[in-house]
Amino acid sequence: MSGNFNPFEMAQRQFDAVAAKLNLDEGTRALLRAPRREYHFTIPVRMDNGQVKVFQGFRVQHSDARGPAKGGIRFHPDETVDTVRALATWMTWKTSCVDIPLGGGKGGIICDPRLMSDAEQERLCRGYISQIARDIGPFQDVPAPDVMTNGQHMLWMMDEYEKIAGGRFPGVITGKPVGVGGSLGRTEATGYGVVYTVREALRRMNKTIKGSTASIQGFGNVAQYAAKLFIELGGKVTCVSCWDNTDKKSYTFKKTSGIDVDFLMSITDKFGSITKGRAKEAGYEILDANAWIEQDVEVLMPNAIENQVTAETAPKIKSTVKIIAEGANGPTTPEADEIVKSKGIVMIPDFLANAGGVTCSYFEQVQNNMNYYWTKEEVLSKLDQKMSTAFNAVADLAEQKKVYMRDAAYMIAIERVANACKLRGWV
Ligand code: NAD
Repeated sequence: MSGNFNPFEMAQRQFDAVAAKLNLDEGTRALLRAPRREYHFTIPVRMDNGQVKVFQGFRVQHSDARGPAKGGIRFHPDETVDTVRALATWMTWKTSCVDIPLGGGKGGIICDPRLMSDAEQERLCRGYISQIARDIGPFQDVPAPDVMTNGQHMLWMMDEYEKIAGGRFPGVITGKPVGVGGSLGRTEATGYGVVYTVREALRRMNKTIKGSTASIQGFGNVAQYAAKLFIELGGKVTCVSCWDNTDKKSYTFKKTSGIDVDFLMSITDKFGSITKGRAKEAGYEILDANAWIEQDVEVLMPNAIENQVTAETAPKIKSTVKIIAEGANGPTTPEADEIVKSKGIVMIPDFLANAGGVTCSYFEQVQNNMNYYWTKEEVLSKLDQKMSTAFNAVADLAEQKKVYMRDAAYMIAIERVANACKLRGWV
C-alpha cells in the first residue's frame, strides 16, 4: 500500500455506489460495508538463532452469508489490516459473482519470508493456525495461498489444524499440492477461466476464438495458460510481456505470425521472466513495456499486475479491440474505465474474468469433503461450465440494463449476498 491510498476505503466506495443503484436498505448496507469478524493476534516464533520474534497476524471474514468465508493468506512486510479488509470484501463479490457457495475472507502476516529459513516459516505457519484454529474450518472459513505463500505453507497449516482438531480435515485449506489433497487443474484454472469468458464474449458477437488475435500482458501463471488455451482453440496470440529483473523494466515480446507458448515457457523462469537473448534468436521482436496494449488485435488480456490500463495507456488501444479480459487484479484504473467505455469495448472485469482460481479452490474443497478426486478433464469441464454461466448472467444484465459490464458484475454479486442476508433473516 503506497502513500495515503486506503484500499478498504476504495472497496467501501465501490460498494456504496452499487448499493445506491440497487436501492439496498440501510441495514443491509451497514452489514455489507464492513467485515463481519476480524481477528488480530500476535504469533511468537522461535527463530533459528534461539531468540523469539513476535509477528502480527490477521484474519478477516468479510461475509459468510452464502457459505464459509474463502480467501488467501498473504505474507508481506508492508501488510496492513486495511489491505486485508479490502481483499476480504472483494473475495465476497468474486465468489458471489461466479455463484459458488462461499463467502469472502483474507488473512495476512506482517513478515518477509524471503528473509526467513524454511524452519522459521514452518513455525510461523503453525503459530498462525494455533491462534486462529477455533475460528476457521471447512464449514467456517477456508484459507488458501496468496502473495508469498504456497502449497508448502498450506500443508504446514493444514497439518497444524488437524493436530488441534484431532482428525483429517483437508477441506480446511485449499491450494495444497496434488497428492496431498490438492486438485488437478489448479495450475491452468485462472488462465483457462479468463479464456472461457473471452470465448463466451466473442460468441455473443457471433465470433469465435478461431481466427481471432490477442495480445497479453504478463507471462506468469495466468498469462501462460490463457495464451495456451487461446491458441489451442484456434486463436493467435501476437504479444506477451514480462518484467525483467536484471534491467528493472518490462518488455513486450512480439511475433506477428503468433507466439509459441511452449517454447516461451521453456525459456521463462519461475517468476515469469522470459530470457530476452533466446527469444530474439527465435525471431521475437522485443518492444517496450506498453507495446502489448497498442496492437491491432481483437482481444487484450492484462494478466500481469494492477494499474496497467490507465489514462495514459488506454487512449493507445486500437479500434480493432473488442474485448478486454482482466486476468490480473485491478489492472484498469477508474479513469481508464471511462475511456474503455467510450470506445465501446466489452470489459470483462477482474473478479469475473480471473475467478477460475477460486472456483477451482472450491472444487478442491468439494473433492476433499467427499474424499474422492476428479480427473483434470472433469475439473476443467466443470470450471468451463461455471465460468461460462457466470459470464453470461453478467452479460445479460449488462445488456438488459445498458450498463458497463463491471457495474453489472457488481450488481449481480452484491444482490446475491444481500439476498442471502435477507433470506437468513439478518436484515
Ligand atoms: P506471476 O507472478 O506468476 O506472473 C506475473 C507476470 O507479470 C510475470 O510474467 C511478470 O514478469 C509480469 N510482470 C510483473 N510486472 C510487470 C510489468 N510491470 N509489466 C509487464 N509484466 C509484468 O503471477 P500470476 O499468478 O500470473 O498473477 C498475475 C495476476 O493475476 C496478479 O494480479 C494476480 O493477483 C492475479 N490473479 C492470479 C490468480 C492465480 O491463480 N494465479 C488468480 C486470480 C488473480
